[in-house]
Amino acid sequence: TDSSKRNSFQRHVADGDMVIVYERHDNMKAVRVKEGSDFQNRYGVFKHSDWIGKPFGSKVFSSKGGFVYLLFPTPELWTLVLNHRTQILYLADISFVISYLEIVPGCVVLESGTGSGSLTTSLARAVVPSGHVYTFDFHEQRADLAREDFDRNGLASLITVSVRDIQGEGFPLEFCGIVDSVFLDLPQPWLAVPSAAKMLKQDGVLCSFSPCIEQVQHSCEVLRQNFTDIRTFEVLLRTYEIKEGRMEATTKNTKGSLLGSLPHKRRQYLSAERSSEGDEKPTLIVRPCSETRGHTGYLTFARLTCI
Ligand code: SAM
Repeated sequence: TDSSKRNSFQRHVADGDMVIVYERHDNMKAVRVKEGSDFQNRYGVFKHSDWIGKPFGSKVFSSKGGFVYLLFPTPELWTLVLNHRTQILYLADISFVISYLEIVPGCVVLESGTGSGSLTTSLARAVVPSGHVYTFDFHEQRADLAREDFDRNGLASLITVSVRDIQGEGFPLEFCGIVDSVFLDLPQPWLAVPSAAKMLKQDGVLCSFSPCIEQVQHSCEVLRQNFTDIRTFEVLLRTYEIKEGRMEATTKNTKGSLLGSLPHKRRQYLSAERSSEGDEKPTLIVRPCSETRGHTGYLTFARLTCI
């Protein structure tokens, strides 16, 4: 598919497109559309030829009358369906990174390692139309597979993937002083910090993702030589399941009760609702979602001052 068309948010499914086939929020699959091919799931057989020409977002039917939705491969959906060749960054961290790295259209961004390309895909969309993401991984096969994914998703004009040991060699000198943002997801990021400092424009921002606080401490020691505004964040996404139901009187504020997990104000609200209306009336039951992810890593941001 012509990548310029894809970048302008092509609205109709064409032969060769990547689509996200959506069954349910927890069951989606990336499928390359090919005239003459079929897609099969428990709802039946879907002909790709029926998909071509339909707007993204369409509900399409199988021979048995089952249905799926055809969604555009946005970076958000891509992160949910991509092949995990490494640990990846998820949306809570990704959105924070893009915002705090101050990435806007036209920015030049350096990234290492590329890994599975989860973050890279979102970085690319953030720099559209005139910016570029240069991403480096020392693992050749991983770099090749990421490049293939970016090509299939129509991102080839926005992302350049190169094989390079960034901890050992640093970033290529051609980027000296012309880069807006640097992102590191490396086991020993402090080894790449001096090179990142040379690449960044004055006031450019660096972010390093590390799972362990010891890695963060080591990175901060090196960052202090050339960077200011050094801040570390941990992003924890907490979603709640909310449903209507009846509460047993004995569950009220006991350890392990549903009410016990509510924020204080909400707890007061529910208690008030119950005491004025009695136990017969359905009330809202709120509890942390069982799929909630825990710790992923620490995000350390720093702004270049002087070299
Ligand atoms: N942020 C990526 C994503 O969201 O998909 C995941 C990155 S993955 C955890 C870390 C990557 O760093 C791996 O692919 C690994 O091959 C690469 N890597 C490790 N050491 C490296 C080095 N010295 N130079 C370049 N890449 C390196």
